[in-house]
Amino acid sequence: MLNVIIFLGSPGSGKGTQAAKLSSTFDYKHISIGDMLRDNVERKTDLGLKTSEFVDSGELVPDDLIIQVVGKFFEDFSSNKDDKVILDGFPRTEPQALALEKIINDLDITLTSVIFLNVQDDEVISRLSERGREDDSPELVLNRLNVYRDQTEPLLEYYKNKNILNEIDGNRLPELVFGEISELIGVEA
Ligand code: ADP
Repeated sequence: MLNVIIFLGSPGSGKGTQAAKLSSTFDYKHISIGDMLRDNVERKTDLGLKTSEFVDSGELVPDDLIIQVVGKFFEDFSSNKDDKVILDGFPRTEPQALALEKIINDLDITLTSVIFLNVQDDEVISRLSERGREDDSPELVLNRLNVYRDQTEPLLEYYKNKNILNEIDGNRLPELVFGEISELIGVEA
């Protein structure tokens, strides 16, 4: 059975950092949709050519496209029976959450936990201005934060209603956040 943990949180909330640390310390595979898209954009693959305008402007890639990519990924992957996966960057909209639910049911995957890294906006803005990725310019950061508020934040309610949402205070030092996540998922940090 494939076990999946979802990371939710605004841009700059530390999802990528924490997911990478979990995967290098424990036996988790880190699937970052943002990294995967940026890699495709850079290599100018078919997917990269279709998605670059969205990725570069901080808009979300259209749902149908991203759902197709994630669906295919899980189809290929779900035969790896005992694997544990951290999904970072999906779902980001309600249609994506519904699509994921269908994928999970069809492929007999367990959604173990949804971890929400809650970080204040001013902290996010200061972190992203230091990070300096190409889509981290001040205007694009504000745009991504707005997109997050409008499209992704409603998912918190969705998973809260399903009783699988775990909120973690992400304003603190990465080691402290990591300790709490490790405890939550039942491994020793
Ligand atoms: P951040 O954590 O700063 O939001 P990501 O690396 O997760 O950055 O995502 C970067 C960009 O990739 C997003 O701004 C968006 O254009 C695209 N993207 C990532 N995940 C999704 C998704 N689930 N649906 C649509 N677009 C996505």
